[in-house]
Amino acid sequence: MLVDSHAHIDTSRFQNDREAVIQAAFEGGVTRIVDPGCDLASSRVALALAKAHPGAVFAGVGTHPHDATTYTDEVGMLYRQMAREPEVVAIGEFGLDYFRMLSPREVQRAVFCAHLQLARECDLPCIIHVRDSHDDVIELLRAHGQGLRGVFHCFSGDTLRQICC
Ligand SMILES: [Zn+2]
Ligand SMILES: [Zn+2]
Repeated sequence: MLVDSHAHIDTSRFQNDREAVIQAAFEGGVTRIVDPGCDLASSRVALALAKAHPGAVFAGVGTHPHDATTYTDEVGMLYRQMAREPEVVAIGEFGLDYFRMLSPREVQRAVFCAHLQLARECDLPCIIHVRDSHDDVIELLRAHGQGLRGVFHCFSGDTLRQICC
């Protein structure tokens, strides 16, 4: 089984050829696609795409660190509802991005922790975006991530050893 665990096929750049891209992926040997949402709107589109491609496309629901200021308790409640759908297989993407720093650091950290809590409540794996933020990610995972599972991406550090121990 070949799973593309991170394909933003909900985004507008695929508005003209989305179905062709999905078809080409499956013809090329991909057996599952996970589309991680980046905010409430794209999480909804990811879920709709997953429903339109049963058994083939699956969704993550979450708020990207760039968009962390759009996250509210109400958004979290809606993610929790969406996560009851069988097509939602992960919480994410969420994370910390101090490279572009499009949201204030403290907001990113708070929203990161809210997503860890969501993953725990929903018993779903995390899709975690890590860019120039390894120390904070490790700190927050150690404090709030016990027992959670998932994948990192955009990871440019060499600190996996620290995460594991
Ligand atoms: Zn992404
Ligand atoms: Zn990312």
